[in-house]
Amino acid sequence: MTADPARPPAPARDATPVTAAANRAVLDALPFADRQDFEDAARGFLGTLPEVEIKNAQGRVIWSLRDYAFLAAESAPPTVNPSLWRQARLNLANGLYHVTDGLYQVRGFDISNMTLIEGERGVIVVDPLISTETARAALALYRQHRGPRPVTAVIYTHSHVDHYGGVRGVVEETDVRAGRVPVLAPDGFMEEVVSENVLAGTPMMRRAQFQFGATLPKGPRGQVDAGLGKVTSRGTVTLIPPTHVIVQPYETHVLDGVEIVFQLAPETEAPAEMHMFYPALRALNLAENATHNLHNTYPIRGAQVRDANAWAKYLDAALDRFGDDADVVFAQHHWPVWGRERVGDFLARQRDLYKFLHDQTVRLMSHGWKAGEIAERLALPQGLAETWHARGYYGTLSHNAKAVYQRYLGWYDANPAHLAPLPPVARARKYVEYMGGAAPARERARADFARGEYRFVAEAMSLLVFADPSDAEARALAADALEQLGYQAESATWRNAYLLGAHELRGGTPSQSARAPVSPDVVRAMPLGLFFDYLAVRLDGERAQGRAFTINWVLTDTDERYTLTLARSALTYRADRQRADAAATVRLARPVLDRLVLRELTLDAALDAGAIVVEGERARLAELFELLDDFALMFPVVEPRRDMPPAALDSAPPRP
Ligand SMILES: [Zn+2]
Repeated sequence: MTADPARPPAPARDATPVTAAANRAVLDALPFADRQDFEDAARGFLGTLPEVEIKNAQGRVIWSLRDYAFLAAESAPPTVNPSLWRQARLNLANGLYHVTDGLYQVRGFDISNMTLIEGERGVIVVDPLISTETARAALALYRQHRGPRPVTAVIYTHSHVDHYGGVRGVVEETDVRAGRVPVLAPDGFMEEVVSENVLAGTPMMRRAQFQFGATLPKGPRGQVDAGLGKVTSRGTVTLIPPTHVIVQPYETHVLDGVEIVFQLAPETEAPAEMHMFYPALRALNLAENATHNLHNTYPIRGAQVRDANAWAKYLDAALDRFGDDADVVFAQHHWPVWGRERVGDFLARQRDLYKFLHDQTVRLMSHGWKAGEIAERLALPQGLAETWHARGYYGTLSHNAKAVYQRYLGWYDANPAHLAPLPPVARARKYVEYMGGAAPARERARADFARGEYRFVAEAMSLLVFADPSDAEARALAADALEQLGYQAESATWRNAYLLGAHELRGGTPSQSARAPVSPDVVRAMPLGLFFDYLAVRLDGERAQGRAFTINWVLTDTDERYTLTLARSALTYRADRQRADAAATVRLARPVLDRLVLRELTLDAALDAGAIVVEGERARLAELFELLDDFALMFPVVEPRRDMPPAALDSAPPRP
């Protein structure tokens, strides 16, 4: 079922009595009388815009807090978990904040914070948000209050887009290239930026819609928050490569008169990440490793899993080395914690949170527990359960424990019945058959729904939808169950996932055929090897059967030589090689290759313009490009795809 724009999806339903009671119970379970976070989130406020709504050059709104006005209410409605409601209200704080003398933050202008450190000549920008538009607005707000100080350095704390994407909104590349503005980043930054999201970029982007809920309506029955901040901005993403990379475990540099001690923290929240201590300011910046929620060892958008043990280790090292000299600790999301004693307490609890998660998962799996059982059993211990900044607004103990299991043991639980089960549609059809058909299954689901057994109703009705996506009653029941799960979720990312799932079951998968957008800056930054890896994952292995040829590539501007070989439906390359028996030799400059992949130029146009010169069989080059797939962003998630190959539908034994 695809979305019919003439028929909007059924409106969201109210909380059931079961959900309302579950949410009410949260009020007694957590220390809501503790208002310290609200004081900290408001402390040092200097001002904001009358209306925080930011548009791009085309006039499209790419960031707005206007839709969150409903969060003004102190008490959560029955459709939102009160613990999440509290976090959503805290994340609404926006504007310029004085953190300590010489150090400021702009919050609420994107999902992340921009930190500004005043130097002798101007201001150092730490993390220029996601989009040039939000970054420009944040810097303008700072200057409105602190004067027109020039940007004297830019620091990227880590390799995620909400910490570099807006860079062209705060600095000109010519100033960076001329050496006037250094750009600093942790070891491995560029490699991780271009590798983390490129090969798996399309499915990750689609899945991120479920994590952040950016396309959901906002409101008490829709998106209220994203845990780390309100949501992701949707403006222009850019990247200027760093001019200085921190490579030692600790390095001290003086930037614009400000002494900064850098601490590398690789393989934590991002593969390339670093903390900073500013000794003269007595301020500790932990990038994204100590925030006011349990973070993700695995974000549900999909990613390689992270190392919770290393995470705890680097937090402890920061506490040990800087804790006694820090009067304030903060991160590139959320609000600071002031006072030496509170800094130490905050850091120790954050460290123990990730250590507990790691060690207890490994302990239970060593007793033979399966990932799903560990996820169900783990609960925060005393000392963390009642700690607001340990609550799972972004990550959850449940999916993080599964990620720790996955890091060591992978997806397989060692039960051979799960080694090669039937693929989703064939499996669903057999399940429905064993259930005695769809009608009795729906009847049982309605009874279970009335009892509040939403988890199983959602799962069982999803099977009915995969067996027959036109089963409107099953779709409605599945949507209703997911919706109640969303209303009860303490985690913003779970709520968003459940509610978008319900939305697409009711309204169908949006029928967009648009390709996933790619940042031109990121494409330009890809090393040639990764570039060919990216072409290789687009090769249609079925259509490529029986074809075999080699193409020599000569990059005329960078003087790189590669061979690219197609054989047995696999595309492989070798660097610094040319083969005498190649079918063709292709000469072109790197920007031409970039424009080809960005679809700014067709192969024919490039050949006609002489931007590509081919010696040998020109047809082979065209053949190669014809064998490459394009990926549409909006693939179905909560229902089966239409173009299922027959092999996915039969219940024969799997072929090797
Ligand atoms: Zn971030």
